[in-house]
Amino acid sequence: MATTDVVIVGAGVVGLTTALVLSKHKDLRITVVAKHMPGDYDIEYASPWAGANYFPVGKAGSNLQRFERETWPELDRICRELPEAGIHYQTTAIYGRKKDATSATGLWFAELVKEDAWFRDLVPNFRILPRSELPPSCETGTSFTSVCINTAIYLPYLLGQSVKAGVTFKRGILSHISEAPSYSPSPSPNTIIINCTGLLASKLGGVMDPAVYPGRGQIVLVRNEPGVMATVSGTDDGEDEATYIMQRAVGGGTILGGCLQAHSWESQPDPNLAQRIMQRSVDLCPALAPKTGKVTELSVIRHGVGLRPMRTGGPRVEKEKIGGQWVVHQYGHAGYGYQASWGSAWEAERLVLGILGPRANL
Ligand code: FAD
Repeated sequence: MATTDVVIVGAGVVGLTTALVLSKHKDLRITVVAKHMPGDYDIEYASPWAGANYFPVGKAGSNLQRFERETWPELDRICRELPEAGIHYQTTAIYGRKKDATSATGLWFAELVKEDAWFRDLVPNFRILPRSELPPSCETGTSFTSVCINTAIYLPYLLGQSVKAGVTFKRGILSHISEAPSYSPSPSPNTIIINCTGLLASKLGGVMDPAVYPGRGQIVLVRNEPGVMATVSGTDDGEDEATYIMQRAVGGGTILGGCLQAHSWESQPDPNLAQRIMQRSVDLCPALAPKTGKVTELSVIRHGVGLRPMRTGGPRVEKEKIGGQWVVHQYGHAGYGYQASWGSAWEAERLVLGILGPRANL
């Protein structure tokens, strides 16, 4: 049985999910090489900073919409069958303000806030909220059952499942994508490279994608419990600021967000923005501060900043020959790397099998 080496560059949610999907093909020998691994917290590593929840935003007919549609049943299955993965169901409320229609956050959430959203028959318990259940500043609202992922549990879970299935993990920093095969047990021109480098696809030699840029997100992680997962399409504090609240599974605390600051590489939390995030969260969800209704009642675990790997035109999942070697690109998942993860990984799998063609004996 011929073995083909696959080297996945990147150990964020995209690289790890792809490693796990490919690991079921026993003719593939898979190595993951990455600068950052689960357990690290770094501004160049988006995955640990995500909330993370399932809030579909893909436009009709886009690859992203397909990835999100395909991902829900798998997150749902993991939630039901694998509690150790750190995902749980959350009742969610999505509030829309008409004045956010053209703001940065309003455009981001355009599909999410629709009362006839494309995912209304996909997620359980979708309903339109009556006016009496809306905050005074909002004109639209929906509710459905979503999930929230504790990234500190889920990323090591994906890594552990991959190791169990035979995947090898290595630390390494590549300056050019063509260095990837050197991390496989027997480098050859047949080695297939999967490029899951997220934001750093903008800087990696051989790729240098100018369409990739950071979408800065600042969060506050607190011990307080909100009782509901909620978001509003925008705020009056700035058109790149939004409010979202989600409680992570298995004691992971509650994420308060946030913002979407395009092209900002700033790694340090802005204390004024943190204050606004906490104030807006308590205003939207008084259950966070039941005794006083004040921000001082929030028990902060950490302030954080992550950079979403934005890409003009959406995520890039396609194959390309670079220096005679097949590369499957899989990056640019912006603010939807988790909610699109399984669909994206299955697309990468189809591309790998297409490259193998008659070579495949899988
Ligand atoms: P990353 O996690 O950044 O991983 C990239 C990997 O590539 C790392 O291992 C890195 O070390 C490696 N790498 C890069 N360059 C090199 C190199 N040259 N050599 C070696 N290794 C390299 N998504 C959701 O679905 N739901 C949410 O609720 C959500 N909330 C978010 C909130 C915030 C504040 C942020 C910042 C993001 C959020 N996201 C959310 C988006 C999600 O986090 C990202 O889309 C996802 O993490 C991207 O994963 P990735 O694997 O592509 O990139």
